[in-house]
Amino acid sequence: MQPGTVEGRVCGVAARKVVYPGSFDPVTNGHLDVIERACGLFEEIIVAVAADSSKKYLFSVEEREQMVREAVAEAGLTARVVSFSGLQVEFVASVGASAVIRGLRAVSDFEFEFQLALMNRKLSTQVETIFLMPRDQYIFLSSSIVKEICRLGGPVEEFVPAGVERALRERYAR
Ligand code: ADP
Repeated sequence: MQPGTVEGRVCGVAARKVVYPGSFDPVTNGHLDVIERACGLFEEIIVAVAADSSKKYLFSVEEREQMVREAVAEAGLTARVVSFSGLQVEFVASVGASAVIRGLRAVSDFEFEFQLALMNRKLSTQVETIFLMPRDQYIFLSSSIVKEICRLGGPVEEFVPAGVERALRERYAR
């Protein structure tokens, strides 16, 4: 297909560079599953760790970024890991990407993700949102539930990379 434009968007050109934005507080095996799937579909994946948000994080942005970088390398995946602040669509445009990857788990994710994707489309017609679903075993996995289990002294090695488990244990031991 010849590249053309529809409503200001380039069409006929595959998305080669995509951004996977999130809090990653901390990165879990569910996030890694999404990155792995994206690696099979796109030439370049930029994992973008959110620096500013109204959310209260357990780990600093530097710690979250470092944990994602280590987990990606240990999993043998190829993705660039950076942090970003400000509007997601502006960050996506600044790195020359045309799409955002988001993970979709149970139905509970749907409403929030739908709202976010449509708002981003309103802010920029140049950025498309692509949803990827993890394998079944990660459907109910979230950074919050992992933090809660760890805080209460439960086992989390099944859900997060070894380095993240160590960091969580250390943080909650304080
Ligand atoms: P955010 O605060 O931006 O939602 P998260 O780190 O919680 O950041 O999640 C980033 C993205 O990864 C979101 O699209 C979320 O739905 C997705 N995600 C989180 N956990 C999983 C998982 N277990 N499986 C698939 N996708 C996931």
